[in-house]
Amino acid sequence: MICRDSAREFDVGILGGGLSGSMLGTVLAKRGVKVAIIEEDEHPRFAVGESTTPHTSLLISLLAEKYGVPEIEHVAYPERLAEHVCTSAGLKRYFGFCYHRPGETYDPAEGFQIGTASKDENHWFRQDIDRYLFELAVQHGAVPMRKTRVTGVEIGDQGAMIETDKGEVIRARYVVDATGYKRILARRLGLRETPTRLKHHSRTLFTHMVDVPAFQGDGSPMPLPWDLCTLHHCFERGWFWVIPFNNHPVSTNTLVSVGLTMDPRRYPRPSLSPEQEFRQFLDRFPSVAGQLAGAKAVRPWVSTGRLQYSTTRSTGRRYCLMSHASGFVDPLFSRGMVNTVEIILALLDPLLNALATDDFDEEAFRHIDRLQQRVLDYNDNLVNGSFISWSDFDLWNAWLRVWALGTILAEFRLMNALGDYTETRDDRHIRPTVQEPVFSDFEDPDYAAFFREAVRWIEAFEAGTLPASEAAAHIFCLADQYEFPALINSEAMRRAGWLKPGQRMSESNINLVRRSFRWALTSPHTRDLFGRFETLCRWCNHRPDPHLADLSQLVQQ
Ligand SMILES: Cc1cc2nc3c(=O)[nH]c(=O)nc-3n(C[C@H](O)[C@H](O)[C@H](O)COP(=O)(O)OP(=O)(O)OC[C@H]3O[C@@H](n4cnc5c(N)ncnc54)[C@H](O)[C@@H]3O)c2cc1C
Repeated sequence: MICRDSAREFDVGILGGGLSGSMLGTVLAKRGVKVAIIEEDEHPRFAVGESTTPHTSLLISLLAEKYGVPEIEHVAYPERLAEHVCTSAGLKRYFGFCYHRPGETYDPAEGFQIGTASKDENHWFRQDIDRYLFELAVQHGAVPMRKTRVTGVEIGDQGAMIETDKGEVIRARYVVDATGYKRILARRLGLRETPTRLKHHSRTLFTHMVDVPAFQGDGSPMPLPWDLCTLHHCFERGWFWVIPFNNHPVSTNTLVSVGLTMDPRRYPRPSLSPEQEFRQFLDRFPSVAGQLAGAKAVRPWVSTGRLQYSTTRSTGRRYCLMSHASGFVDPLFSRGMVNTVEIILALLDPLLNALATDDFDEEAFRHIDRLQQRVLDYNDNLVNGSFISWSDFDLWNAWLRVWALGTILAEFRLMNALGDYTETRDDRHIRPTVQEPVFSDFEDPDYAAFFREAVRWIEAFEAGTLPASEAAAHIFCLADQYEFPALINSEAMRRAGWLKPGQRMSESNINLVRRSFRWALTSPHTRDLFGRFETLCRWCNHRPDPHLADLSQLVQQ
């Protein structure tokens, strides 16, 4: 396509060869673009960000389908991942949330198991996933510069000059910052938003551990064991994560990712080592201690400062920041890689077009910045609302629906778009249809209004103008009024891997799912909703469930 001769001249210079730089580099190289990936480290190397969601996997499938790179899709499917990539990843069958109060043992009625769909998701052992993707980019023709640190970038009318610690100058017509939280370009161009506009405050401690038993949750009424999920132990203004890599039948990995995220305004940083600080939190929560007290770290703990950061803009003339270089909120709900793949998808067509026409007009990239900023604000409100809600279980029970409603509907819309696109190759199916979304071009059109209203209620509780019970009731009431147009198409489910080959989904089953979703998302007392579809959707059992008898009739149909 657009190559030139010099070994130091490229169409695109990608700063950082992590997950985003390598995925983008793979597709660009596949399209004949001369691309350099400059990575200061060497693979395999540690990286955090391990838990995928159906939204992540569907976007990866779309990327693979649209740009003809099926090897990228291997990382989205546990079986394909084990066969083609590595045997060090774990399984995520559902999101698990257990609620804890200091000094009290866990009440099994205060847990949630929310299925990731019929298809399992992944716990990526990132060092192996990132290495695979980096090598994939190289196989497709990207030029790797390993152990090469970018030290400076200058962007002019004709392109960018990238300086490295080896004294080289690399020229590129377009530059992408994929350096993650180091976000070198944002610093260089003065794009960091200081102080950040983000409301949420958290810092984190994390490591990889061995000897982590499954959480027991004594007397749990939940149908699945607690080690088949990304497990969140939530408490007032904080949460622990437990992400097993050792729970896939063919996994050769004994490690479990363990972390703790908390609001430093509520829990000021003590003068302790990260491990001592972590153990101090275990002392507060006896049931979490029951699971993690004997666990041993196998790598040094990482202890961060405040995690939140943002940028004033993420695209401009001849540059774009990847999602993690543009901003970050919190690992809660595993939204980081969703945003990462979303931005790669948003960038590819305008970038390929600009390279082909040599027209790098900023306007063609402006929508990417709008997407980044609104996604960041959505993540901020979502996590901030969760931290607020954790002072009261009923409020958390309500707030969880705010996340689930948007997420599940967006996943179904995206799944249908992927199915239609695969069948027709018609771009119209995957073009944004929602005019003013808050977090995804695939979200339900009514969700933005619902979300803003829910944020208003939770913040009213935080401001002290509304008791928790009333805020929770308002949010359930909002959910009850929701139209809930769940679109479900069995061919699309098959393309997405949500139905296995040979598995059938009758129209009446689809209708059952549709009705049951509506019910699950609006009733505070739901449990084991889709026992028949194995992992599709399971909810909490806070109190004896008045609807359960009706539901079992529904399920018998
Ligand atoms: C604590 C934590 C937990 C998370 N958990 C999840 C999760 O469970 N699920 C999820 O979806 N997301 C999660 N995320 C987000 C996820 O980590 C990111 O979305 C993802 O890693 C972004 O990938 P990336 O390639 O853009 O950045 P990174 O993975 O950070 O890669 C950046 C690369 O750039 C290189 N680099 C940096 N500076 C330079 C330089 N000057 N020169 C050359 N190379 C350089 C680095 O060596 C690195 O390889 C989490 C994030 C954090 C902080």
